[in-house]
Amino acid sequence: MKKEKNGTRWAFIINPVAGRGKTVKYIAYLQKCKHDLHPEIDLFVTERPGHATEICNSLIRNGYRRFVAVGGDGTFNEVVQSLVPKKNCVLGIFPSGSGNDYAPGAGFPDHYEPWELADLFRCREVPVDVGKCNGRYFLNNVGFGFDAKVATDFSNAKHNLGKINYWYFVIKNIFFFRPSRFIMTFGKEKISLKSLLVSFGIGRRCGGGFQLTPRALINDALMDICIIENTGVFGRVMKLAGVAMKKHIGSKGVHYILAKSAKIEFDRDVNAHLDGETFMGRKFDITLIPGAVRLLVHPERENYCRKEKKSGK
Ligand SMILES: [Mg+2]
Repeated sequence: MKKEKNGTRWAFIINPVAGRGKTVKYIAYLQKCKHDLHPEIDLFVTERPGHATEICNSLIRNGYRRFVAVGGDGTFNEVVQSLVPKKNCVLGIFPSGSGNDYAPGAGFPDHYEPWELADLFRCREVPVDVGKCNGRYFLNNVGFGFDAKVATDFSNAKHNLGKINYWYFVIKNIFFFRPSRFIMTFGKEKISLKSLLVSFGIGRRCGGGFQLTPRALINDALMDICIIENTGVFGRVMKLAGVAMKKHIGSKGVHYILAKSAKIEFDRDVNAHLDGETFMGRKFDITLIPGAVRLLVHPERENYCRKEKKSGK
């Protein structure tokens, strides 16, 4: 009986260290919301990396089906690991991380404003695609090469000076990034190149705002793949400037592919990131699971969902 009751409750999974610790300020706000306006929400605070997945697994066993992840792309990713294997779970996002690259796809801004909690409860549920790379799910994107190396350098930096650090590592890698050759198969096709970067996008943004896959839709059962061939230092500057201005598609040395799945193998271990979390690897098997999670999408604002066809009589 208690399990059935939990099916209509909302579990807010809060990562207090997301956004360099800024998310902690939302705990008191959400407690007040629960007390004054929304008794149907329950709050759970994570204590360590991976804890959001553990909490969600336990809540699903206890009948919960509606979740709101409070944090950044990494927090959303941890919650998704638990939700995808269980069908028909609902995911809401409350963006308060450092990058928040997935949020615009659902029609939400980079950072939540308190008045927007009411919007969350007015959202419509849209089944959205989730990717899987070597057994781990991703909601937004997975990438290999230059952007993953910058993200790795940034997260390993001893002194965190925010955007100054980020741009320092962008410039450093424009000069010193070591490219790698890969072979990628998708469908019946094969492509082999020496690449600056390869990005598989369900959403459009990565790296705190760059749109490597600016045509991506989060519910079209396709991944948008952007491959940028390696060039010299001047060419790298021009390519990255093109990405910043969203004018890279169609330019020389940029390939834009749509696929449902792909296998990619590099000639050595390369820097990789999955929803912003960095790691190293050489062989990757990437597939898309259409409509794997029911995402809360803002009822009015622009989003990255495929437009619904209006049925006419
Ligand atoms: Mg898509």
